Amino acid sequence: MSAPFEPGAGRISARSIERVRDAADMITVVSKRVDLRRAGTQFSGLCPFHEERSPSFSVNPADKVYHCFGCQAGGDIFRFVAETESVEFPEAVELLAAQFGVELEREGLDPQAEENRRRRARLYEALARAEAYYANYLWDVAASERSRRYLRERGLREEVLRAFGVGMAPANWDSLLVRGQRASYSVDELHAAGLIQKGGQGGFYDRFRSRILFPIRDHRGRTLGFGARGLSPDARPKYINSPEGELYHKSSTLYGIDLARGPITRAGSAVVVEGYTDVLALHQAGIDQAVAVMGTAITPEQLKMLRRYCDRVVLALDADRAGREAMLRARRVAGSEGLKLRVAAMPVGTDPAEMLATGGADRFRELVEQAEDLSVFHIRSILAESELESAEGRDAALGETVPVLAGMGETISRDEMLREVASRLDADPGFVARLVKERAVGGALTPRSGPLEAAAPEPSGRPIRSPRPRREHAFLAMCVAEPGEGELGLGAVESGWFSDPLAGRAALWLRDHLEAPDQGHPADDPPLASLLERLVKAAEQRPVESGAIEVSRLKIEQAFLEDRLVEVGRSDDTVTLIELQRRRAAITERLAGRGTVAG
Ligand SMILES: [Zn+2]
Repeated sequence: MSAPFEPGAGRISARSIERVRDAADMITVVSKRVDLRRAGTQFSGLCPFHEERSPSFSVNPADKVYHCFGCQAGGDIFRFVAETESVEFPEAVELLAAQFGVELEREGLDPQAEENRRRRARLYEALARAEAYYANYLWDVAASERSRRYLRERGLREEVLRAFGVGMAPANWDSLLVRGQRASYSVDELHAAGLIQKGGQGGFYDRFRSRILFPIRDHRGRTLGFGARGLSPDARPKYINSPEGELYHKSSTLYGIDLARGPITRAGSAVVVEGYTDVLALHQAGIDQAVAVMGTAITPEQLKMLRRYCDRVVLALDADRAGREAMLRARRVAGSEGLKLRVAAMPVGTDPAEMLATGGADRFRELVEQAEDLSVFHIRSILAESELESAEGRDAALGETVPVLAGMGETISRDEMLREVASRLDADPGFVARLVKERAVGGALTPRSGPLEAAAPEPSGRPIRSPRPRREHAFLAMCVAEPGEGELGLGAVESGWFSDPLAGRAALWLRDHLEAPDQGHPADDPPLASLLERLVKAAEQRPVESGAIEVSRLKIEQAFLEDRLVEVGRSDDTVTLIELQRRRAAITERLAGRGTVAG
C-alpha cells in the first residue's frame, strides 16, 4: 500500500508502469464492470460508458486496450481503471500494482517524503489488521452474541455487515495493545493510528472496548479509523470515533464512499444520510449510492469529493435548524462546484434505517425521487416557521425569503415560489417580484463605487435567522434615536451591505428623512412603512451610547465584506479579492481600536 499524491513522494518510474501493464490481466480488470463474451481473439460486451442494448464495446486482451464503436470511448488498461474508478492516472497505476502484486519504483524521491510514505503505509496496515481482528471477534466469539443480536434486530444481514467490515471490540483494556505490539507495531504507531489512547498515569490502553465498530474507509477502501457504538444502553457517549490524526480527517471523509462510488457514478447521484447503520440499511435495500457524513454538517471537502462521481446530491439529513444552516452553507459550495443539491424531507422523528426496517424501501426511494430543490425547501421552511398573523411577522418572513428567491436565478421554479410566497404573505406578487429583482441585481438600490461596481449577484442562503438582520435594525433604530451621529452613519453605508433588503431600503429612506422618519412614507411600500414605525418606537426606548452607531456600522460592513470575500474567493478576480481583504483588515483594526461597544 502506498499513498499517492504526497509532495515529493516521487514519480512512478516508466519501468514500473510497464511492469504493472505486463502483470495486469485485462479481462479480470474489465470483467469487474462488464460481462464479457469471447468473439475470436477479442471480447465484447455492453459499454460501461454509454447506455446501449447491443454490445459495441470490445476488448483486446493481448494489447490490453478497449474500444467502443458506439461512443468512441477507448484506451489502455490504465485509462479504463482511471475512467471507471474515477481516479487520476497515477492512482490507477497504484490500484493495479496493488491488485497484481507489483512493487512500484519511484523517481526523484525526497528521503523525508519516502519516510512519511512508509510510516503512513504502516498505519494503514495496522488499521487493516485491527479491522480484521475486530470482525473476527464479532463473528467467531460467543461473547459477541449480544452484538450480533443487536445488529440482526436492526434488520441488518450478515452479508452487508461483512461487506462494510463491521466488527466488535472486546471488553478488555489491552486486547489490541498487546496484539498490535506482538505484530511489531510500536506504541507510537498504534497511538497515531487512533487505536490506543493514553491514560492518566501515562500508560496506554485500547481506545475501543465493548463497542460495535464501523470501519471508516477512504474511496480506495483503506481503513482510516472507526466509528464505535456503545452496546449497553448506558454507554456514554453512545458513539465515539477515531481521533483526527495522520490518516483520519472527519471533514474530508464520507462513510461508505468505497462501496458507494461505483453506484454513485452509474446513477449520477448520491444520497447523503447521517448514520452508519442508515448506510448499511440502504445498501442492503439496493439503494447503494448512499454515504454518511461524520457528524451533522456536510462539508465543502465532502461535496468536492462527491463532485468527482456525480452532479446531483440528495441530502436525507435531519432537517432541524442546525442541519438546515449546514445545508445552506453547503449550497454555496455546491453552486460553485456545479453540483445540484436536493433535500429529501424525512418524516419527523424517523431515520432511514427505521423506515427501511419496516419495509419502507419504496417509500424511501420515493422521497429521494421527490427531493426538493434546496432553495424551495428553504423557503417552505421559513414560511412554515414564521408567524404570519401580523404584518410584522410577514415582513420578517419576506425579508428572509427574498434573498433566497433572488439566488434562484430566473427560473420557472423561482416564479412559482415567488407566487407561493406572495400568496402566503398576502402580498402583491408584483411587489415581491420587484424586491427580488432589486436584490438580484447586486442587492443595492444605488450604484456602488470602486471595485464593487461589478459586483456579482448577492448570494442567497444566508443562515436562517442570523443575528445580522437584528443588528441591522438596531443600527437603524440608533440612527433614528441619535440623528446627529445617525446622519453620519447613514451617509457611510450602502444599501447593498444589508443582509435584509428591507433594512437596506429603510437606510436609503432615512438618509433623507431623519428629521421625521415615519412621516410621508411611500404608500407603495407597506413593509417599509411598517418597519419605520417600529424603528421609531425602538428609538424611543433605548439610549444610544456614544460611538455605538459607528461600531454597529462597521460590523454591518464587515459582515458584508465576509460574504463578498466568499463569492470573490471562488472567482479568479484577485484584484477585487485583495481590495476586499484590505478593507476588511482596516475594519478589523478600527473595531479593535474601539473595544467592544455593543453593536
Ligand atoms: Zn460506449
